[in-house]
Amino acid sequence: MASILISGGNGFLGSYLCERALKNGFDVTVVDNLSTSKEIQVPKEVHFIKKPVEKFNTDQKFDFVIHLAARPSPEDYINNPLATIDSNDIGTRNMLEIARKGNSIFMYTSTSEVYGDPKILPIPENYFGYVNPNGIRSCYDESKRFSEALIMAYERQYRLDVRIQRPFNVYGPRIREDGFYGRVIPRFIDQALRNKPITVHGDGKQTRSFLYVSDWVDATWKFLTINKGKGKVLNIGNYKEISVLDLAKLIIKKTNSKSKIVHLEPREEDPKRRAADITQARKILNWEPKVSLDEGLNYTIEWLREKKNL
Ligand code: UDP
Repeated sequence: MASILISGGNGFLGSYLCERALKNGFDVTVVDNLSTSKEIQVPKEVHFIKKPVEKFNTDQKFDFVIHLAARPSPEDYINNPLATIDSNDIGTRNMLEIARKGNSIFMYTSTSEVYGDPKILPIPENYFGYVNPNGIRSCYDESKRFSEALIMAYERQYRLDVRIQRPFNVYGPRIREDGFYGRVIPRFIDQALRNKPITVHGDGKQTRSFLYVSDWVDATWKFLTINKGKGKVLNIGNYKEISVLDLAKLIIKKTNSKSKIVHLEPREEDPKRRAADITQARKILNWEPKVSLDEGLNYTIEWLREKKNL
């Protein structure tokens, strides 16, 4: 039986990955401190270790090690900069050491934030980014960039099999849904279902490209398990952009909401546009996003309606 260690395995993305690994007959271990989730959401077959990844070490050997633990919400990481950095410096180092000792395949979930406020769109992997090294978002984007450097050092020095993915705004059921957490899709749906004002930061012309979670899991599983994935850095995202204002209007329409749009102050250093160039993922993984934003929003709205009884 193949074994896999997933840091942050109880989070939104991690919980889906646990399910996929179990479905494929893997023995799954999760290390997670529950910092961004409210409850345990992994199946009971998972060996669960409640710990921050930066304090975790083991001599156990795993066939696969995935480092997912992170605080990806800008509103959250801006308020917790040191904990955010720790999962990407000490945390990444710990997970790399476990992979080195076990000669595991190591995958890192980096981020589209490594590109900062990009000057090229859609963004290919070989774009180095436009990032403020000491700005308000640097605790997240620079520490993710540092993690990538650390991982490549392990590849160069120890010949470790490493794979780096950069997800772009993944969403879907199970994403942290309370309005406080800040991710745009669950927040707008929550506001719309309650007929509360939809809070658009700035003029709402900033864009994102959103990826539905089942597409992310498919891409991740392939990337992890195929030989061609070795040593690659891949964008896992969507190439279709939508502005935040259009997203707000779409969600109001889909939920038949009476909500009005209100404009708040722009977020500091909010990237103006973001869309993934997925040429490499298409070629290497033979993968393409299947779920449209329209469909994905329907599933997410349905889930939130049920969960919140709205
Ligand atoms: N956003 C917004 N209102 C909100 C939350 C987010 O207008 O209540 C915008 C935010 O300014 C950004 C986009 O939605 O341009 C995506 O924000 P999110 O926090 O989901 O993630 P990011 O892509 O910035 O990491």
